[in-house]
Amino acid sequence: MTAQTSAVQIKVQGIVQGVGFRPHVYSLATRNKLTGWVRNTSAGVEIELNGAPEVLEDFYQRLQAELPPLARIDHIERQTISPNGFSDFQIIESQPLPGDFLPVSPDRAICADCQRELFDPHDRRYRYPFINCTNCGPRFTIIEDIPYDRPKTTMREFTMCPRCRAEYDNPLDRRFHAQPTACAVCGPRLIFLAAGIKNESEAALQSAREWIKSGKIIAVKGLGGFHLACDAGNETAVAELRRRKKRSDKAFALMAFNMAAIETYAEVSPAERKALLSNERPIVLLKAKEHTNLAPSIAPGQKRLGFMLAYTPLHLLLLEPEQDFPDVLVMTSANLSEEPILYRDADVIPRLSLLADGYLTNDRPIHMRVDDSVMQICQEIPQIIRRARGFAPDAFNLPASQPSIFAAGAELKNTFCLTRDRYAFVSHFIGDLENYETLTSFEEGIQHYEKLFRIRPEIIACDLHPDYLASKYARQRAEAEGLPLVEVQHHHAHLAACLAENHWPDSSEKVIGVCFDGTGLGTDGAIWGGEFLVGNYREFARPWHLAYTPLPGGDAAARQPARMALAHLNSAGIDWDESFAPAQNFCADERSLLRQQIRLKLNTPMTSSMGRLFDAAASLCGVRQVNTYEGQAAIEFEALADPQVTDAYPFLIANGLIDPAPMWQALIADLSQNIPGATMAARFHNGIAQATLSVCQMIRQETGINTVALSGGVWQNQYLFTRAKQLLEAQQFQLLFHSKFPTNDGAIALGQAQIAAAIHQ
Ligand code: ZN
Ligand code: ZN
Ligand code: FE
Repeated sequence: MTAQTSAVQIKVQGIVQGVGFRPHVYSLATRNKLTGWVRNTSAGVEIELNGAPEVLEDFYQRLQAELPPLARIDHIERQTISPNGFSDFQIIESQPLPGDFLPVSPDRAICADCQRELFDPHDRRYRYPFINCTNCGPRFTIIEDIPYDRPKTTMREFTMCPRCRAEYDNPLDRRFHAQPTACAVCGPRLIFLAAGIKNESEAALQSAREWIKSGKIIAVKGLGGFHLACDAGNETAVAELRRRKKRSDKAFALMAFNMAAIETYAEVSPAERKALLSNERPIVLLKAKEHTNLAPSIAPGQKRLGFMLAYTPLHLLLLEPEQDFPDVLVMTSANLSEEPILYRDADVIPRLSLLADGYLTNDRPIHMRVDDSVMQICQEIPQIIRRARGFAPDAFNLPASQPSIFAAGAELKNTFCLTRDRYAFVSHFIGDLENYETLTSFEEGIQHYEKLFRIRPEIIACDLHPDYLASKYARQRAEAEGLPLVEVQHHHAHLAACLAENHWPDSSEKVIGVCFDGTGLGTDGAIWGGEFLVGNYREFARPWHLAYTPLPGGDAAARQPARMALAHLNSAGIDWDESFAPAQNFCADERSLLRQQIRLKLNTPMTSSMGRLFDAAASLCGVRQVNTYEGQAAIEFEALADPQVTDAYPFLIANGLIDPAPMWQALIADLSQNIPGATMAARFHNGIAQATLSVCQMIRQETGINTVALSGGVWQNQYLFTRAKQLLEAQQFQLLFHSKFPTNDGAIALGQAQIAAAIHQ
């Protein structure tokens, strides 16, 4: 050993297992003639190196600069040690330490190399639907436990053939330690099942394509569950799918083979293209082109289409372009109405027999169900609407270490959150906790995350609402395990989620939180949803809110915008009769019953909900009187709004209340003059944006606070978001909003966890 030899030990944490990190280390070390070893531990990767100091420094820089595509370093440290006199560089056996954990990679779309091999007739995996490598393929959905090794995945049953094994063992191969690696000889097989038919492999694929071509509905097993697929250009098939799914209006997601197919039907901006092509391959909501030959019932009443690119080799083969084969397929989660996506073969065949004509399945089990993610791009800003496949269970880095917290999340669009050390694991989208199946999926998800990331919660957080199933679960658990329980007000959780996502420090500094959504229980027992808060993680005040209106029939009002419209008119002191669009939705008896209900306050909680105000305005403009899915009237009202219109309806802003009465007067005057709905919708949106600015200015004047956090499902409204952002920024407000997590209730759990952490510090 020469005098210049020194030695270092390097420890790396982050997404560094199952993503080609050790081969990266190996090739860097051997290229630089460094000696030593690298190994996986249950906390990350450890490296020991001997060599000249400047070469070691170069290695350290390149290690971080030239990462494999799916790897991510969250924490790295190095320490000088005494040289060990190694003669070569080796990848050595894993060293599990009890209690340690590391992040797990989300499932990844097929990489360019695998896609090339898939369609290369000379490649041994030509047309093999489960081709994958270290840079792509299933991860989270097949992992049962850590460390991430094949025996702890659902690939356990498949014994590698000698050729796959040789690739798996070769540190310089793209499939070195790629746990799901397989080929047609040794790996999972496609199976097609339908009345009187059962075939396998290529024949199964061709049968499925034949059936789709002939207008049938096929269940297709993907990464995180089954989809229902049919020809998106066949109105009969799409209408039949709606009938079978009992889904009257909610848009169906679409899948295309490539960008060219998407661009036939929708406009794609550069930012949208980037999102579509990203590793996460989400569904992206795009502006639909007019006069295409897509089935009209794909997205009734909407100007947007939800598109995703084929993201597995199976999807590419299923959608492979061919004369007479549809270039776009409907790809909607296989479930019965609002139940979670089906993912086990044993559950699918009996339950889906009413939904699908045939099944394209395979013998690789799915361990964790995960839906497709959904996002939209607004003003170049990516906004996640549903955070699931491709994103979960990626950890969010916290500014400081925290105790282990379990936060149960909200009732609708539920996700839960578990924290440990400097990580927050926000779960994939679970769904609306309104039925037994979704609750089971919630509980199984929690157990899985706790096991996978070795988390034992010390504190439990949940929503104030006594009846939410998530809150009930949290309370029972806190009691059973003797843990402190933090009950968090819904809109405070929204505010905290927005702060956390923007890495806002836990200090005494406060921000203005503009939390607009459909519903959340307030500290006064009313249903809040149009709130201006002033606060931080620890506390909040509510200086301003939308004036209270009765919510006749409670939850029923959310399904019936017509009820909301009449209740709002009543509050504004405006008499209504059967000439109003919402009143026409009821017969004379129902109308007098409704009047009485509002007057006597029977089953009529008070609400400041912004979502319900949108419903009411949409109803009065004749857009929609009954919602068949949450937020439908508001979505259609936004679609109607004319972006050229700049004037706004007035609101009365005084004494901490935003009173919509003047807005209703103006809207009714417009109605009587037959002003187009597009203009009224725009004036309404502009009015809310103006009112938001006015209230923020008043709060700033009083408190000197200049930072505004926008959170709550209403901010998914691109028209409103764009206008409010422009107005606030023009007045030099600093804006915080959501981009990594949903602005809807999908981020509530993160907010709850951060509030619990701050309180228990
Ligand atoms: Zn690949
Ligand atoms: Zn093989
Ligand atoms: Fe909410």
